[in-house]
Amino acid sequence: MLRITDILDKTQSYLTPADQEMIEKAYVFSATVHQGQTRLSGEPYLTHPMEVAGILADMKLDAATIITGLLHDTVEDTLTTTEQIEAAFGRDVSFLVEGLTKISKITFGSQEERQAENFRKMILAMSADLRILIVRLADRMHNMRTLNFQPREKQRYIATETLELYAPLANRLGINWMKVELEDLSFLYLHSDAYHEIARRIDKKKEQREQYTEEVRGIIAKEIAKYGLRGDVEGRAKHFYSIYTKMNSQRIDFDEVYDLIAFRIILDANKDKECYEALSIVHALWKPVPGRFKDRIAMPKANGYRSLHTTVIGPYGERVEIQIRTRQMHEWAEEGIAAHWRYKERRVDLGSDDQQIMKLRELLEVQQEVQNPREFMANLKLALFPDEVYVFTPGGDVKSFPKGATPIDFAYSIHTDVGNQCIGARVNRSIVPLKYELQNGDTVEIITQAGHHPGKDWLKWAVTSRARSKIKNWIKAEESKRSIEIGREILEREFRKQNLRFSQFLRSDEFKKICEEQNIATPDDLMALIGYGRISAKHIVNRFAPETGVKAEEAAVDRGRKKPKGVASLGISLTGIEDVLVRFAHCCDPIPGDEIVGYISRGRGITIHTSQCANLQELDAERFVEVSWNIKEKQTYPVDILVICQDKKGVIAEVSSVISSLDINISHAEVETTQDLRAICNFRVDVHDLGEFNRMVAAIKKVKCVLSIERTKKS
Ligand code: MN
Repeated sequence: MLRITDILDKTQSYLTPADQEMIEKAYVFSATVHQGQTRLSGEPYLTHPMEVAGILADMKLDAATIITGLLHDTVEDTLTTTEQIEAAFGRDVSFLVEGLTKISKITFGSQEERQAENFRKMILAMSADLRILIVRLADRMHNMRTLNFQPREKQRYIATETLELYAPLANRLGINWMKVELEDLSFLYLHSDAYHEIARRIDKKKEQREQYTEEVRGIIAKEIAKYGLRGDVEGRAKHFYSIYTKMNSQRIDFDEVYDLIAFRIILDANKDKECYEALSIVHALWKPVPGRFKDRIAMPKANGYRSLHTTVIGPYGERVEIQIRTRQMHEWAEEGIAAHWRYKERRVDLGSDDQQIMKLRELLEVQQEVQNPREFMANLKLALFPDEVYVFTPGGDVKSFPKGATPIDFAYSIHTDVGNQCIGARVNRSIVPLKYELQNGDTVEIITQAGHHPGKDWLKWAVTSRARSKIKNWIKAEESKRSIEIGREILEREFRKQNLRFSQFLRSDEFKKICEEQNIATPDDLMALIGYGRISAKHIVNRFAPETGVKAEEAAVDRGRKKPKGVASLGISLTGIEDVLVRFAHCCDPIPGDEIVGYISRGRGITIHTSQCANLQELDAERFVEVSWNIKEKQTYPVDILVICQDKKGVIAEVSSVISSLDINISHAEVETTQDLRAICNFRVDVHDLGEFNRMVAAIKKVKCVLSIERTKKS
């Protein structure tokens, strides 16, 4: 069992005594809270955090990371709180432990393969600081090393998760040794027969292979030394899982021992130039296999990996794979981000045009100025991975969205109907508003209601193009539905006026003819065209009763005040709808300048109200349409005012003359005198717009004896 002194020995060379003291303190803390707990192996539970801390110390990570290794299971498995950890070890450590507690709750389970990438991204996104992920990988590494104590089922489950999630994550961070070990251990538990078969075959020719390895190694070493290059040459068997995948993807002959060996030249000097020199030495020695050379120095991998790769025809006519790199490149290749973390004071030159690497490089260049390690890691993560949020469906699938996405985006990602009928959402079991911004790791459940539909606000909250286009489509379809409704009402009304039956018309040959003439497919299309004002209803009706058309129109005069007119002549514009039947509501008598709304009335086209009109509240909200004033020719609009004044002789005449002096016509006046000697005067006047009306009110106010003036509201 690893002891705390072992960990302190590992860290002594690079950590301060104060850091070491904190690690010791964390050890005591962890031992205390895990006391009495045991692992399946029968060992005290403490062995696990100790081994994890040991792995992190071997990677020469900073004190906070090692302390986090010691404490990583305390919040999850004991009564310890994050607050206690913060009080004892500071914010940095408690932040890391909190992050680990969070990601330990993500379980991949028996997800389908296609989900794996989303899960990986989610874990990355939730590792707000990459040290969280590194500790998680060390945690998984020790659990994999001790997997034999788990029951069979659990072994398969954990091994699958490791192979699908954690080995690729180790690879993405460039930590090759972890990737290799995690893959081989997973392979052992998932395909143990194949694993042991490969092990047996490799072992069988061990002596022969070692002899061969030594021979090739010697030739290369001698040759590069001859040209004055200093470095080491390694030859080793590839890891089992890579042999296994190679066996599955291409024919591999086990009798050819060379197929299992890869050679590596590691040059001492930190010079790219020497790698290319070594390459030309090897190529002069043995004939290169065409198409097998890869320049990963000029074009590094996204995780920062750099090396030259080549395959040559070796001394026995066999294919020999060779990697060439500097010691610094080697360090990065094996330890990736962890190596960078350790040598953050040292500049790592990544040299490449690759965009991601460029970003990484920029960060490495500025990082000397960034004192806060968390900020640096957050930046690094942002540079490596796009800014997305990952959330769970109630079924445990992961979905990714751009940052800022809301439950509306989530709902439309499931199905258009779910989106359209979405009325709210439950996130982590509590109700949130539709504009709630999704957070990493949220479990999102959409609440729908049949018959519900998108609101205009939704376009403000939806960020995915899918959701936005679905909402727009719905609004467009709704507008066309409305114009069909309006068109039908207009047409039915015209038919009624002529005492003609609308249903008969729809079945008539004349109707078919009209449709053919206008190139219309369905009755609804015709109604829509009438609703939009592209076809005149009168024109259609006249084909049935041409001689009475005009007369009937006059009969429609509404209370003798104003006959219904087309939109244009009333000086109104309607959003998306032209030339439909329009009338002004008498309850509020809108005049230009008033804020107005339209209401689709049954059988009478659209009625215009002021938006303050009290009657609006009783109307069906579904039937409102947006309208605005669009004055084409000056005309007057009637409006009622109530003037209360002291009942004195001549005062009414005076008010009347003030109105007339402004060139405003009074079409109606009514005066009533009360017991308390006040005169209540009702005037109906014709004004051009609200400005004129207001000027009139101001003028009347100046008349002595006038007590109050108001625009009459009827309800
Ligand atoms: Mn653990």
